[in-house]
Amino acid sequence: LGAFFQPIQQLVQLYSTYQQGQSSITKLKSLLGTTPDVVEAPGAVDLPPVQGQITFDDVTFGYDSSRPVISGVSLDIRAGETVAFVGPTGAGKSTLAKLVTRFYDPTSGRVLIDGHDLRDVRIESLRRQLGVVPQEPFLFAGPLRDNIRFASPDASDDEVWAALRAVGLVEVVERMPQGLDTVVQERGQSLSSGERQLVALARAFLAQPRVLVLDEATSNLDLQSETKIEDALDVLLEQRTAILIAHRLSTAMKADRIVVVDDGRIVEVGSHDQLVAAGGKYTQMYATWTSQAAEVH
Ligand code: ADP
Repeated sequence: LGAFFQPIQQLVQLYSTYQQGQSSITKLKSLLGTTPDVVEAPGAVDLPPVQGQITFDDVTFGYDSSRPVISGVSLDIRAGETVAFVGPTGAGKSTLAKLVTRFYDPTSGRVLIDGHDLRDVRIESLRRQLGVVPQEPFLFAGPLRDNIRFASPDASDDEVWAALRAVGLVEVVERMPQGLDTVVQERGQSLSSGERQLVALARAFLAQPRVLVLDEATSNLDLQSETKIEDALDVLLEQRTAILIAHRLSTAMKADRIVVVDDGRIVEVGSHDQLVAAGGKYTQMYATWTSQAAEVH
């Protein structure tokens, strides 16, 4: 359950970005027999191009109404800011991200983007402005080129290569005999899990969304992919709002602010230095991270 998006939800999300047409979405939803768990309001309007300010206004949510997993969360994320959600497994980090991408609506309270309540806007017009990089990115069986162009189907090969360059995948793809025509498998078995995440980052780089939501892989990535992901993030985080679900200290430290989530509540917010000095939950996490790093090296 920790994984940010289940594969089918990912497919619907990516496909909706790809097709941008209501009829094909309806077709796909009926094909898969599933929909994200939200209903579009009859009077929903297109979300105009956003700056990317995100507000959680006293949000409470539970997958099952008897058990809230998010309780009274309020948080303002400035346009262009990078915020890292950290905290124990099951704390509610992914759920908060799913409320931003509107896979669910709050039970009470509101989630707003540039002041627009997400419930009042057409879901596709929201998702078009969001880039989502899940923990286990979905690749479909097809050429690598199309996988990277998923959210930007009109991109040229030059643009695709530029995206590959931004995430450090040029050499990997150049080594493939078929290059951009290489057919990747569903679930992407032909690529390592680090490379899959890099492909998803290349996708996001190509689409240039105003808001990026990234669920960092928890699995042990090879060191090379890890370094490339870190470098790619430096580029991707510029000039957009980003929510990182961070499992590594190096990722948390990239954020302007770190938000510590525990048991469905925000328990600490601040910069890395502020939180290390505060002697609270983050200080404990920092101690664990640094002792683990000492064991590895
Ligand atoms: P985190 O991302 O911090 O690990 P999650 O947001 O995934 O935490 O989970 C918060 C809580 O919600 C956990 O108790 C988890 O078991 C529960 N949960 C997550 N996804 C679902 C779901 N699809 N259905 C029911 N419960 C869920």
